[in-house]
Amino acid sequence: MKASGGCYCGDIRYQIDGPAEAAFQCHCRECQYFSGGEPATAMAFDEGDVIFTRGNLATFARSDLENPVPRYFCPRCGTHIGNYSPRRPDLMILKVGTLDDPSVFRPQLAIFLCDAQPFHHVEDGLPAFQKRP
Ligand SMILES: [Zn+2]
Ligand SMILES: [Zn+2]
Repeated sequence: MKASGGCYCGDIRYQIDGPAEAAFQCHCRECQYFSGGEPATAMAFDEGDVIFTRGNLATFARSDLENPVPRYFCPRCGTHIGNYSPRRPDLMILKVGTLDDPSVFRPQLAIFLCDAQPFHHVEDGLPAFQKRP
């Protein structure tokens, strides 16, 4: 797919040129902090298929965890652009809400239902996992 996106204030901009390796919603407790409470909706791309064309990302990773997830933010407006997965460092995982057109998102699976809240929604027929598949 070809798509573009960025943060709320516009300081960070990126372009995608390549297929989504995965499209998912993650219900884990960590994601609830960054989504505002709902599952995080995200798409994973080969790292080389995502080009940042504007701005400098701020990074945060917890120092008290063994395999912390490095998360990327706009340092000015705080938008959570995405993260790397320590298990798949070749992928850039982008938050769907930062796409210029988030409507292209179609979840393929739901993960970490073990942490789901009663108000979370999982589409009928969507493969869902307590942790990962
Ligand atoms: Zn911003
Ligand atoms: Zn998560």
